[in-house]
Amino acid sequence: MSTLPVVTTVRELQAQADAERAAGRRIALVPTMGALHAGHLSLVTEARRQADVVWMSIFVNPTQFNDPKDFEGYPVDMKRDLALAAEHGVDLVFSPLAAELYPEGAQTWVEVSELAEPLCGASRPGHFRGVTTVVAKLLLAARPHVAVFGQKDFQQCAVIRRMASDLGFGVEIVAAPTVREPDGLALSSRNVHLGPEARRQALALVRALDAAEQAVAQGERGRDALLAGVHAEIGQASLAQIDYAEIRDPETLEISPGQLAGPSLLALAVNFAADGPGQGAPVRLIDNRVLTPGPAA
Ligand code: AMP
Repeated sequence: MSTLPVVTTVRELQAQADAERAAGRRIALVPTMGALHAGHLSLVTEARRQADVVWMSIFVNPTQFNDPKDFEGYPVDMKRDLALAAEHGVDLVFSPLAAELYPEGAQTWVEVSELAEPLCGASRPGHFRGVTTVVAKLLLAARPHVAVFGQKDFQQCAVIRRMASDLGFGVEIVAAPTVREPDGLALSSRNVHLGPEARRQALALVRALDAAEQAVAQGERGRDALLAGVHAEIGQASLAQIDYAEIRDPETLEISPGQLAGPSLLALAVNFAADGPGQGAPVRLIDNRVLTPGPAA
């Protein structure tokens, strides 16, 4: 039996945060939407390195889903999540109902502009507005010293870091490395929706990132040549359709120059058709790699 405390109201969480702070303890928050996997649990390990108490929020945030079907189909298993959180040393779970974070009549949004426009911002309108709004609410509720996010969602980390800094939350935003399956596929709650053939073909993402990294290591600097390689690799997967494949500045997320001059973010989003008829909506996977050109020869 788990004795993990589960808090459901903002008021109670704030009271707990005040008590921890008064006792001089550092709080780390790991925000999640549940359906926990080893990627989420690695954030808990990182949070433990950063703080004395580790809190996890589990909340499937309705406002960040631009597609209602995606929201309805999002995997939920609270019992399993609580057991995993307890097993991995989480000290408290915050699991509010939607009405707690979005009270009747709520009309306040937190929105980051430029950083949230390209990539996932362009293909999922309103997504980052939902993310920044809910993360702001979670930070106000948990009052953490540090909050840990996954680098798999690279743009999300950039957008949240900007928001936390712009609004003076006084919280450190830590980005932790992507956890992968043994064959390289980034862990994602959406992977459960991949049929067996789509799961095999999903490795095209990793192959494309690897090929680009290797090309850069061998001296390729041309942005378009690198992207052509990505398209060729993913083009071999018959179930895959590229949503975006772009190379951008990792700080500003502006499009990189034609010849890469420094560290550059290769960001991919690919839709995989369900294998076989009637097996549901396409599964959208994202992954990224920071390409680091060495000094010019
Ligand atoms: P989610 O529940 O999918 O919203 O993700 C919650 C947090 O886990 C976010 O900060 C994600 O970036 C992070 N995350 C998701 N997948 C991974 C992964 N494979 N490795 C590391 N962190 C991840």
